[in-house]
Amino acid sequence: MKPMQFDQTLAIEVLQRARLPKWALPQDWPQHVGQPLLADIHIDKGQISRISPHIETLESSHRIQSLDLEGALLLPSLVDAHTHLDKTLTLSRMGPVGPGLLNAIQAMMHDRAAWTQEDVKTRATKALLMALKAGVTHIRSHCDCWEPGQMPLAWGVLEELSQSWMDQIRLERVALIPLALFKNKDDALFLAQSVKASQNRVPGAMLGGFIHSSNWEPEALENLLFAAQTHELDLDLHVDEELNANAQGLKVLATRVQQTGFSGRVVCGHTCALSQMPEDQSLKILDEVAKAGITLVTLPITNLFLQDAQTHRTPRIRGMTLVKEARLRGIPVLIASDNVQDPFCAMGSYDPMEAFSLGVPMGQLNPAFDEWSELLCRPEWIHSKISPPPYQPFGVGAQADLICFTQANTTGFPSQTHARQIIRAGILSPT
Ligand SMILES: [Zn+2]
Repeated sequence: MKPMQFDQTLAIEVLQRARLPKWALPQDWPQHVGQPLLADIHIDKGQISRISPHIETLESSHRIQSLDLEGALLLPSLVDAHTHLDKTLTLSRMGPVGPGLLNAIQAMMHDRAAWTQEDVKTRATKALLMALKAGVTHIRSHCDCWEPGQMPLAWGVLEELSQSWMDQIRLERVALIPLALFKNKDDALFLAQSVKASQNRVPGAMLGGFIHSSNWEPEALENLLFAAQTHELDLDLHVDEELNANAQGLKVLATRVQQTGFSGRVVCGHTCALSQMPEDQSLKILDEVAKAGITLVTLPITNLFLQDAQTHRTPRIRGMTLVKEARLRGIPVLIASDNVQDPFCAMGSYDPMEAFSLGVPMGQLNPAFDEWSELLCRPEWIHSKISPPPYQPFGVGAQADLICFTQANTTGFPSQTHARQIIRAGILSPT
């Protein structure tokens, strides 16, 4: 990229010749040989004031802060819609962990006995710093280890970090509660009330749960929906993170959300079981998911590590949910990091591009830049009317939080995306 009249410490007024993805441009945006024309992005007081097709290079005599991207790829800032900051970065201090979800849970329980507020805060802060460097402006973390009548130690830490990081990253927290704890309606209401109290102190708290064939309780799910509705909380659930074609979670949830008229946003992570069901059955469920307005989040790295995992055996089934079929039905789908360097997933770096880089070949997601990069950039897809996003989605009026990929190209994307220039509120971040 070529600085013209440019002083790095001042706000950018025009970003010239940016290659934006097709999904971020209006339908009638001019094209040349099937490619959208490059864009000039005008920025005023840190906000995007105009996006127009690039016509000609501005005269250098114009006394404006202009940065010429020379056709480099540009995305809005990233959202990491599903992470676990409470458990993160613990793997290096553990011994060997056996394969699969249940072994991971066991290893986590053992490590958790030694957690302190300081330990959680140190690890979660490291994670947030990594996310910030990657160009993330929104991150959602689940928080595990709920017990009857007791909040997990990490919940308070995440609440505090949500507050202290507010100007840099919007950190949201989801109470990841075992479904069994919702079995009793009063307990369910108490849990929801505790989460609501946290939301009232620092916005960005929602109710969640782990819904799996091993703990399947339709009544508990009913109570969970009722409690969330009563306390006006959005939901973010781990659903059918398994290869059991008979898993009931998503199917029942999509039906009950419609029948109860649940008014909040419902986000479902994983839904791997869809990939194992007979096709007509899985598509019928997706039709209901679309009608219910549910958002799906796919987590390729953790699915690759945990699904079909056995010692000394190469996994055959990879567990990605039906992202293409979901998109065809207009279901909002996001892609996210999930576990990072904990017993559930050894790798990860709080760079959602890393999950995307595995998700693209795993799901054959082409064209990756022009179409599928949208899965990284839509924080509004996890928010509802009852927790309206305190920001404007990408476009005119949005804060100029952008990422320029200085070495990548549209056909090879997401390869060569490590080289980035992060722009926050129209100012180039130091690299
Ligand atoms: Zn998760």
